[in-house]
Amino acid sequence: MSKFPRKLLWPCWSAVAVIDRNQLALYLHVPFCWQKCSYCDFYSRPAEPKIVRLYLNRLAEELKFRGPDWQKPVTSIYFGGGTPSLLSPAALDKILQVIRDNYRLAPNPEITLEVNPGDLQSQTVLDNWQELGINRISLGVQSLQQVELKLLGRSHSVSQARRSLAFLAKSEYNYNVDLISALPGQQAEDHLQNLVEILQYRPRHISCYNLQLEPGTPLAERMKQGLLPEISEEEDARGYQQTRQQLKKQNYQHYEISNFALPGFKCRHNLAYWEFRPYVGFGPAACSFNLRERRKNQASLRDYLADSPRNPEVPHEISRLDQQDLKAEYLFMGFRLLQGIDRRDFRSFFQQSLADCYSREIAGLKEEGLLAESGDKIYLTGRGLLLANHVFQAFL
Ligand code: SF4
Repeated sequence: MSKFPRKLLWPCWSAVAVIDRNQLALYLHVPFCWQKCSYCDFYSRPAEPKIVRLYLNRLAEELKFRGPDWQKPVTSIYFGGGTPSLLSPAALDKILQVIRDNYRLAPNPEITLEVNPGDLQSQTVLDNWQELGINRISLGVQSLQQVELKLLGRSHSVSQARRSLAFLAKSEYNYNVDLISALPGQQAEDHLQNLVEILQYRPRHISCYNLQLEPGTPLAERMKQGLLPEISEEEDARGYQQTRQQLKKQNYQHYEISNFALPGFKCRHNLAYWEFRPYVGFGPAACSFNLRERRKNQASLRDYLADSPRNPEVPHEISRLDQQDLKAEYLFMGFRLLQGIDRRDFRSFFQQSLADCYSREIAGLKEEGLLAESGDKIYLTGRGLLLANHVFQAFL
């Protein structure tokens, strides 16, 4: 959902020069939603009980079948979607059991459940998730203004969002709150008002994405027809600036373009993507990356279910990445982190120095004031973060 904004906090250097890639992040795509949000182009379908049951059986088959390919220790499990919180505790338990039986779990893996606020309206629900071993919640609040939730086509209300936040705040849960900014007609102050209220609940992690108008979505169509006010880039940049200042004052570390965390609460799962570590995705439309090739399951529940149980493999495509593609993706992901990339890690991964591959591009971007260096680290400057897409294109 995020554009590539604009911003710089002083980078916080990681002590780790070479990233440990002998670990695995697991992603489960749950392709069901209560209703389709007006801005969403993720793959999801209405949650019909019979189809959900078939999906769960198929998911278990896929997990078992692909397990032997992935022997690295699993450090994170992420239920995303879609709306995984619409699954019953029994369904979530079944999936987790299949994972435990077929994968090598690292000690204390991070297990995240994406939650729609409407699905967290009692303490019992939260207790159930905790009992299953789910130790991180990512709550899709998006806004605390009813008019904005309506514009986004969200199925939950502001009062439901506040209620779910209150349960989380009372608990010991490590939880993230998702917010969307840069809505049509939204002023920076409207977004700030959402943020200030969210901060009263003290989530461990906050993701602030600005709205992406995905072609073909109802919201993008309404914008195209001139039915909604234009999104102002200046207002967006002002909102981002205020967000950063507000969160910094409250001790949140800005560690990725759109993500902020209290000390010790960065999202371990998402770091796998940004740090170019292997991950494996299950369910329709889920992606996997084994450090050489990318696999994408077909975005069709019908096709996903079609051959079950005769053929345990689900329909998918594989793209082999050549060295040039890999390097570009490595930089694209690594520069999203405010700490940037480490020359020693690049050299260890590609057996070539960053200077040998990109000295001309780096020199040009430094001259433009878009990249800066400190020791072995190279990272986007404040101006570079504002023009991140321009930076990424230089390496393509
Ligand atoms: S809940 Fe999430 S996945 Fe489902 S339609 Fe809304 S934005 Fe898309």
